[in-house]
Amino acid sequence: MDKDYIISLDQGTTSSRAILFDIKKKCIIGMKNKPFAQIYPKPGYVEHNPEEIWEGQLEVMKAVIEEAGISYDDIASIGIANQRETVVVWDRNTGKPIYNAIVWQCRRTADICERLKKERLEDIIKEKTGLVVDAYFSGTKIQWILDNVGGAKEKAQRNELMAGTIDSWLIWKLTGGKVHVTDYTNASRTMLFNIKSLKWDEELLEYMNIPISMMPSVVSSSGRIAYTDESVVGGKIPISGVAGDQQASLFGQACFDVGCAKNTYGTGCFILMNIGDKPVSSKNNLITTIAWVIGDEVKYALEGSVFNAGSTIQWIRDEMGLIKASAESRIEAEKVKDTNGVYLVPAFTGLGAPYWDMYARGAVLGITRGTKREHLIRAALESIAYQSMDILEVMKLDSGIDLKELKVDGGASANDFLMQFQADMLNINIKRPIITETTALGAAYLAGLGEGVWKSKEELSKDWSLDKLFAPKMESREREEKYSGWKKAVSKSLAWEEP
Ligand code: ADP
Repeated sequence: MDKDYIISLDQGTTSSRAILFDIKKKCIIGMKNKPFAQIYPKPGYVEHNPEEIWEGQLEVMKAVIEEAGISYDDIASIGIANQRETVVVWDRNTGKPIYNAIVWQCRRTADICERLKKERLEDIIKEKTGLVVDAYFSGTKIQWILDNVGGAKEKAQRNELMAGTIDSWLIWKLTGGKVHVTDYTNASRTMLFNIKSLKWDEELLEYMNIPISMMPSVVSSSGRIAYTDESVVGGKIPISGVAGDQQASLFGQACFDVGCAKNTYGTGCFILMNIGDKPVSSKNNLITTIAWVIGDEVKYALEGSVFNAGSTIQWIRDEMGLIKASAESRIEAEKVKDTNGVYLVPAFTGLGAPYWDMYARGAVLGITRGTKREHLIRAALESIAYQSMDILEVMKLDSGIDLKELKVDGGASANDFLMQFQADMLNINIKRPIITETTALGAAYLAGLGEGVWKSKEELSKDWSLDKLFAPKMESREREEKYSGWKKAVSKSLAWEEP
């Protein structure tokens, strides 16, 4: 391989980024970022303009190449990691979207989901797709567009429309409208894809009135998919890696073995655990998802998320004014030896797995006259670790796999106090890598593997390098006392709002 670079396109919820990865030096040498508009037409509705996403993505890609002073011929491959579940429906003939992209956060199809539940389709959907019935996933969003955009249904019947998650949309644009595909990880987030047969599920497509002709072909997460169109992009580069952002991050963390898990500590937390080649069904409303498909290797993951993690730190910073910057939380938390019995349950938007109570609300418990500001700050950080632990505990139960270590990334993983407390509570080693841009790295890994830049995953494992290891130090009695206090605090926050 005589080419020196890989480009990752990290198309996120609030911005599109292009990252230039130096193959020989094994590091990131350039990065460009372009935010785009968040459109909120009504409470609970969230949209993006697909053309703005595409134009921004193309712009940062060109800019990162130009700034590095390299030529298109030096680029071995493009890898894509994208915000998941967000969908676009566009016209096959004009190439124009018929509606804005409906974003994963958008709740507009909650009533369609209620109907699916009333029709007792929950178990079937879970069995086939590994997902819980929720407006979060793409299927009902496509259905909504067909039902609500004038003439869409008829056009779909006449095979004039195409649907796809953001990876599909970008690949279609990058190839000058020649290739309509998605990868298995993205397909597994649509609620239309059977994760066992690895095919679009005709029965589910029918329930949601979506013609199969609209759906993209499903391709491996790694391997040559197509070439970019020179007249659009400026060069002919192979696209050889695609995955949803959280799966890309699992891959970028080199979680290649069964039982290997990662937690991304951002606004919320995203926890994924590699469960191997059999899709375990969760008894605790975790999601079963495709981790990657490479050639004939299919790997599954269990996934759980914490709604409010870093956002809790934003809350104590911006609404409570207890700190000026997120990073200060560590300094303040370490000024006291514990929280003095205080627990903060950040159930701002209800609680997800394993409680699943949308009527839970935030609470601070155990306050006494001696409670200080530092205790509250410490309790806020600890709440992130407790919530992650809640999910990892049920993951262990569902999978029957004992967690041996946890790899971490995301903004709040920079907080050493939080990472040490997490190691203490889980009683396992926590490993933070040097490169915490794991989403972009995962896309680069998939793309590089797909072009033979690297021969195997084992080769990539060797490149994963540790920044810091946090080993557990806490006595088991203290750990149990603290965790049972957390459970008690959570129990007080449940069912607070009236339905
Ligand atoms: P996202 O991708 O979800 O926007 P990031 O991975 O950029 O999130 O992380 C940002 C979040 O992490 C913010 O909510 C911020 O409050 C929190 N955060 C960042 N640095 C720290 C820190 N040192 N300690 C605690 N929280 C932090």
